[in-house]
Amino acid sequence: MQTKKILFTPGPLTTSKTVKEAMLEDMGSRDAAFITAVKEIRTELLRLAHVSKEEGYECVIVQGSGTFGIESVISSATGKDDVLLVLANGAYGERIVSMAAIHKLNHQVLRFSEDEIVSPEAVQQYLKEHPEVTKIACIHSETTTGLFNPIFEIGLVCKQHNAVFIVDAMSSFGGVEMDMKQMNIDFLVSSSNKCIEGVPGFAFALCKRQELEKAKGQARTLSLDLYAQWEGLEKNGQFRFTPPTLSIMAFLQALKELREEGGVEAREQRYKKNKEILDEGLLDIGFKHYLAPDIQGHIITSYLYPQDPKFNFDRFYNKLNDLGFIIYPGKLSKADAFRIGNIGQIFPADVHDLIKAIKAVLAEENIMIKEHSLNA
Ligand SMILES: *Cc1c(COP(=O)(O)O)cnc(C)c1O
Repeated sequence: MQTKKILFTPGPLTTSKTVKEAMLEDMGSRDAAFITAVKEIRTELLRLAHVSKEEGYECVIVQGSGTFGIESVISSATGKDDVLLVLANGAYGERIVSMAAIHKLNHQVLRFSEDEIVSPEAVQQYLKEHPEVTKIACIHSETTTGLFNPIFEIGLVCKQHNAVFIVDAMSSFGGVEMDMKQMNIDFLVSSSNKCIEGVPGFAFALCKRQELEKAKGQARTLSLDLYAQWEGLEKNGQFRFTPPTLSIMAFLQALKELREEGGVEAREQRYKKNKEILDEGLLDIGFKHYLAPDIQGHIITSYLYPQDPKFNFDRFYNKLNDLGFIIYPGKLSKADAFRIGNIGQIFPADVHDLIKAIKAVLAEENIMIKEHSLNA
């Protein structure tokens, strides 16, 4: 049994030792080193999205988990004369719908099945019938299943319709090349503990300044006021309320390690390689994908439970956990599946080890998916 646990989840993820070590020194929120770190992070995140302050974009860091960042954008950017259209094909899209309901925003929902991507043509058709829509929110990598929605094509539809485009790129940003301008994204939200491989503590919103400025005075909460948060950071580089100091220091180190790895492109390649090895191993054992391969992204993959009635997910999970491998349960409404993430500080050798562990657990449980493969 290994002592180190490896997280094959959508976050929090396995992080490097050096990222964790960056948190060993106490740091005051007014310390020059901290203020500089915040400034560097805000600049670097824009750069990763291929935009800059000079081109009219801003990075706002919001304390809390990823959801806090989404809620900050949704509840601050949607004004009383706006109509928000939420495109939903999974739990994270539904989470935005819940936010819109709680904040009593004028909103509409266009739903797609969990195993289908958002269809840009359907969105276009919907907008023809609903010209009142002014803002559109969509998830990029829908972590419920791991599918990738066609953000570029949806962005084109938003542009045609003159609608503001809000994208939850939580589980993809840093692990998928994204050009905000090219994709017509006005607000892109992600967090510290996903593909940039930092530790939990904050979300960040990359915003088109022109749209961010319109959020002035229309927030529904004090702590999630996106405009006020931005204004605070601009004024003196400080947060309005206690910042996640150590998580910021870890994130600065994580960004450095992302550069050293070769940037987003190299990281994307590593994650894709992880996924390729995982698929090869699991399909060989006999597991089947939940999604059609052409819509399945390389961030997290859904596999259907085996048919064998002896298969018990909790036991499977716990035994893998004892061996040091953390996988992720499913969240689907109409199929039994579990998920395995390909992101974080995991490398091909770790994926091979996970496959070996899965084979060992299935053999121990006497579960046959495909007869020849388990003793391989
Ligand atoms: C992880 C994730 C979030 C945020 O979840 P938190 O638990 O609040 O960090 C939002 N959307 C997607 C698609 C995610 O994968």
